[in-house]
Amino acid sequence: MARLVEPVQDALVGHRRTFFGHPGLNGTTAWDYQGRVWAIKRPADGKPGVRHCVTCLECGRRLTYHVYSVAETRRRRIARWVGAAVCFPGWVAAMLAVGARSAGNAPPLVITMGSVPLLYLMIFWLGMAAAREIGVAGRGSTLPLFLPKHKVFLRSQYNGDWV
Ligand SMILES: [Zn+2]
Repeated sequence: MARLVEPVQDALVGHRRTFFGHPGLNGTTAWDYQGRVWAIKRPADGKPGVRHCVTCLECGRRLTYHVYSVAETRRRRIARWVGAAVCFPGWVAAMLAVGARSAGNAPPLVITMGSVPLLYLMIFWLGMAAAREIGVAGRGSTLPLFLPKHKVFLRSQYNGDWV
């Protein structure tokens, strides 16, 4: 479920407290973050993203994030979902092109089988990036498969938790 993005909302800039994760909900792994609440004020729709500097209360580092408007955040999510959706047709087209280059035969098995894990990884990565897009980018805070030292969380509209 996509996170609610509002023009003005509370965010938490968290500093990761542990290197190793611990068991979380539903068999997942979780890391503990502690930090400060940051009142995000997004630019108006149609305006470019703005840079904000936040100082981490845990380590004192100055962190720079780009904050995007609600419309731009929606556009960034859609672009990632579209990217994930066109991966499979793109892969099929690439395999057909490789097959056409090899005198009409099927593409070599090693290329076909070797590219399947990359295809799945790309679809997974783009889907996760779309789901995690909150319109606050920087320092790898929303990149999938990346465990940043500092991460931005938004307050859940359902129960007030940081998600
Ligand atoms: Zn820190």
